[in-house]
Amino acid sequence: MSNLPIATNAVVRQHALKLLRRFRRPALVMLGFYAAASAAALAAPFIIGQFVQRASNGSLTSRAVLWLVVALLVSSLSNTALNYIARRQSYTLGERVFATLREEFLADVLRLPLSVVERAGTGDLLSRTTNDIEALNRTVRFALPEWTVAVIQTVLTLVAMFLTSPLVALASLVVVPVLAITTKRYLRYASPGYVRERIAYATMFGAISETAEGARTVDALRLSDRQAGRIDESIREAFYSELYTLSMRLWWFPIVEANFSFAVTTTLLWGGWLFIGHHVTIGAATAVTLYVVQMTDPLDRIVAWLDELQIGQTALARLIGVAEVEDDRSHDGGEPQGELIEITDVRYAYRAGHDVLHGVSLSIQPGERLAIVGPSGAGKSTLGRLIAGIDIPRSGSITIGGESVANLPLSSIRQHVALVTQEHHIFIGTVRDNLILARPSSNDDAVRRALAAVDALEWVEELPSGLDTELGSTGHPVTPAQAQQLALARLVLADPHTLVLDEATALLDPRAARHLERSLSAVLEGRTVIAIAHRLHTAHDADRVAVVIDGLIAELGTHDELLAHNGEYAALWRSWRSDIPGAS
Ligand code: ADP
Repeated sequence: MSNLPIATNAVVRQHALKLLRRFRRPALVMLGFYAAASAAALAAPFIIGQFVQRASNGSLTSRAVLWLVVALLVSSLSNTALNYIARRQSYTLGERVFATLREEFLADVLRLPLSVVERAGTGDLLSRTTNDIEALNRTVRFALPEWTVAVIQTVLTLVAMFLTSPLVALASLVVVPVLAITTKRYLRYASPGYVRERIAYATMFGAISETAEGARTVDALRLSDRQAGRIDESIREAFYSELYTLSMRLWWFPIVEANFSFAVTTTLLWGGWLFIGHHVTIGAATAVTLYVVQMTDPLDRIVAWLDELQIGQTALARLIGVAEVEDDRSHDGGEPQGELIEITDVRYAYRAGHDVLHGVSLSIQPGERLAIVGPSGAGKSTLGRLIAGIDIPRSGSITIGGESVANLPLSSIRQHVALVTQEHHIFIGTVRDNLILARPSSNDDAVRRALAAVDALEWVEELPSGLDTELGSTGHPVTPAQAQQLALARLVLADPHTLVLDEATALLDPRAARHLERSLSAVLEGRTVIAIAHRLHTAHDADRVAVVIDGLIAELGTHDELLAHNGEYAALWRSWRSDIPGAS
């Protein structure tokens, strides 16, 4: 199973910059408010410095104390007010950015070629749509705003320190080299750890959801030990990758903390020494030391949010990586003219270098009933998927009404050709919602006609609210046969001129089959039908039969012609007939 791509750091940066440009105005307003709030908070150490200064030189009058206290109050109140506005602004911005990212991601996912989704497995995609979105959510809503605030506060505090007294402020710089080197090391070793962690979670979710979805198969084939082993293995991997990033934080955080205390003591020592030597005033030494103390809080937050940002960056890389899957079709085709389907020298491989179709050519006339027969593994289903436009030929071409399927978007192909399988998902929504998915413009008359065509109108009208009855996992339950009828009614509404019917997967439930046969034949009426036939009476009733053997069309003709030819088909027919008791 090949995982979906993950975007590189450069791509992530570019994407982030693009978002920033898009939200430049609100971002600048937010930054402005945060800067003003931080500036207001910076008055406090300066005021206290003045207090100490006046106390030491004897100029501290009661009037001065009053003024200093008022200034302190104003600074703290305006800090609170500005912070409130800034935070509101940043949370709103966070919501908008996150909504944009989520919409982009959804568009990317919906655009993924079906074959890629099938090959990547649901685990990877599921983990991106849940875990990674959740991680990104935390980053965009909380980590990013908090981190930005902390950076602004740190920078402004540094500026204030150097404005108050560059000489005293110099002391705080002794911690910069150690901090810079250890941070760089931490980022270098921790980043791949976070990527590994996300992948480990994706694998774990994949293993668990696959086991839950395939519980019956797991049971039937006694795979539970194997599945339990795989899940244990994936949990172990998630555990160790979590342990790794945790140990990275464990050595780095204490170093950072120690450096903060070191910066405060160094500044106090250095400021005191400068004051004794009459190089600076006691007010300046006090204010700068207080600035260093005040700076440890935002610095602490910068550090604390850094790994959340790393997780967010990794999640973003996984989300926008989905956009890197190349589209398998060009979308520049025109509207198909007519209903003729032409298959010309088509080759197809699931794995590079292993063709399963080796040059299939065939024209299917409008209204024709074509049966495709042949041994299992010959390539019949593959051919069906190609005609329905799910996969695109590796070479050669398939045209619908003169337009190559490779140039048509899947949504446009669906209006012409549909694949009928056993899958008949009921979506959460009303009966009407479930049907008009295929053609959103349909009115209730059309919906009723479609239901009547498949013999389902009667029971639908008896539902508690008729067409408005809620279905799906939380709604009114329907039987598998009813679900299949709804799927067929959906097809009637979609009204494609050609149906590809895979008998191996369509109408598998034998009890439902007899009842559904009538519904199905109503749907087939008047359309081109390509039936991948497992019951040879389908072939007998078809206009033409194509015998596929080893990825090639070995024989093509009517049932009678092929019998007379006395080749593969005649042999298949004889062996099938002899399996039926009483037939000769
Ligand atoms: P049929 O419908 O005639 O039984 P298929 O079209 O299902 O044959 O399969 C043709 C060949 O392609 C087989 O060898 C099968 O193993 C292979 N194949 C089918 N589906 C896949 C897939 N999703 N990935 C890889 N190989 C596949």
